Amino acid sequence: MLDIQDLKVALDGEAGIVRAVDGLRLTIQRGETFALVGESGCGKSMTALALMRLLPESVRITAGRIELEGGDTLALPESQMRAVRGGRIGMIFQEPATSLNPVMRVGDQIVEAIATHTALRGDAARAKAIDWLRRVGIPEPERRIDEYPFRMSGGQKQRVMIAMTLATEPDFLIADEPTTALDVTLQKQILDLLRDLQREQGMGLLLITHDLAVVAGMAQRVALMYAGQIIEVASADEFFQSPRHPYAQALLRALPAAARRGEPLAAIAGTVPALTQSFAGCRFAPRCASAMAHCATTLPELTLLGPTRSVRCLLYAEGGAHTPVHPEVSKGARQGFDTSARTDLSSPLLAIQNLRVRFPIRKGLLQRVSGYFDAVGGVSFDIQPGQTLALVGESGCGKTTIGKAIVQLLRGQADIEGRALLGGSNLFDMQGDALQAARRDIQIIFQDPFSSLNPRMRVFEILEEGLTALHPDMDAGARRARLEKLAEQVGLRREALERFPHEFSGGQRQRIAIARALAVQPKLIVCDEPTSALDVSVQAQILNLLEQLQRELGVAYLFITHNIGVVEYIADHVAVMRAGRIVEQGPGEAVLQRPQHDYTRTLLAAVPRMVLATV
Ligand code: SF4
Repeated sequence: MLDIQDLKVALDGEAGIVRAVDGLRLTIQRGETFALVGESGCGKSMTALALMRLLPESVRITAGRIELEGGDTLALPESQMRAVRGGRIGMIFQEPATSLNPVMRVGDQIVEAIATHTALRGDAARAKAIDWLRRVGIPEPERRIDEYPFRMSGGQKQRVMIAMTLATEPDFLIADEPTTALDVTLQKQILDLLRDLQREQGMGLLLITHDLAVVAGMAQRVALMYAGQIIEVASADEFFQSPRHPYAQALLRALPAAARRGEPLAAIAGTVPALTQSFAGCRFAPRCASAMAHCATTLPELTLLGPTRSVRCLLYAEGGAHTPVHPEVSKGARQGFDTSARTDLSSPLLAIQNLRVRFPIRKGLLQRVSGYFDAVGGVSFDIQPGQTLALVGESGCGKTTIGKAIVQLLRGQADIEGRALLGGSNLFDMQGDALQAARRDIQIIFQDPFSSLNPRMRVFEILEEGLTALHPDMDAGARRARLEKLAEQVGLRREALERFPHEFSGGQRQRIAIARALAVQPKLIVCDEPTSALDVSVQAQILNLLEQLQRELGVAYLFITHNIGVVEYIADHVAVMRAGRIVEQGPGEAVLQRPQHDYTRTLLAAVPRMVLATV
């Protein structure tokens, strides 16, 4: 149905021409779900936008053909392409909030799409819009069709987007990270819905995602992209059971899971190469544990290994080794984490007792308090020294509010009741020197390392700031010595201290944020979704680093996350939250393997899972 031949997409970057997509070839059948996966910057979304001819002005298609049932869409004049776009090919974007027009009622937006691409008008178009809202699971569609997007939740907006896209009955659907912005339970609903609708309509579906577990549950075939090229195509079963390309194997080994507890994750060293260079050999060679001498000088082609499988790797090329390779992390690192060194004292480091947080709702010119919003409604838990407690639940359940309350970020903004006992004293009552000391003991790492680092300060100044405030006794020489050692501990070079945050990758910035938290030698770090903005291989590096620091320094973590794989891998204890309360808590394995509360069961059942190959 869709046949892409040798597609090349390029853009002008500061350092030269960036070849974002470099010779992509794939075919997708009618009724097939085909997943395009890869880490950020590998060219997936550029491919999707090229299919729709929606590339930004600075980006151009320099070569190739995109055939939709025999016709080359790249050759169509824009007027005809407009009918294809939204008519024959539909697209669902990652962020529904930015894809819907905020000043137009949702029904009008759907009716507009129907009128543009079908013969239906007026009442008939409206009836069809209501029907589609019902089909995507919007309750009371007759009433809600006249609402504006802001009155809908994130999941409902994504449903509206799906209704708007499918109401024109496209032959082919592109879903670009359709559930990345959603919670697991909503994600499950949306993926189930897409699967049902696709089956009913017999559409071709190109699913673009970085989430391999979603792929495992949805796709029939998978293509893995790396540095602008497809490097492996396989059926989903083949891909997850016996990945062939060394990068595919490394990626699957980097995923955190219960089975990998106590051993370091197989982080992939190095970074994706700049796409401004012209390559003489394999693009993965500098990071490949199986690289051979000629990998740096020979360009690997896609080699056909079976009816549904091809791989771009010289191990499988004509005359190649033809042996599946399983890149191991170095032997020393494979010996496993020695968790015996973890302190397990019977008295908790931090005891949260009946914590309640409520935010005042202000109205009118004088901003009088007209009511309260209860964000946290009485929660209690302990954190042991040197251990990790994971706080899980859907967004808006109050996890982040608890984290912020503990690090004293809500003082003056919310009413806080209950106690947070650190060394026997209540954090919420502390003032002056005692509060200063408590701030030293508890630090926080945020989800987005970029927005939490001051872009105008060098890394050294960023790290030194906290040290100066919380350790005023230290002189400049001692501060520098401490920070240089710290940079090494978190895997940054000393020179990195003299650079600005924008000069680093996402993973490196998160290392800086971790170094900033560690600079004052805290006993507890609140980690608020520290890896959710990172790619799998970088996530593995950060999780390994956090584990290593816990072993070496005995620091405890309150780990706030919605990623159950990460929880299984890192948490000693788990507390499950729903609507401001903890519904279940206990040792990690007990809660995750034998959940007692219905909500925990629902949450765990919604998590997409895959059977990991035992490579
Ligand atoms: Fe590794 Fe060589 Fe294969 Fe590239 S071609 S993935 S460097 S073995």
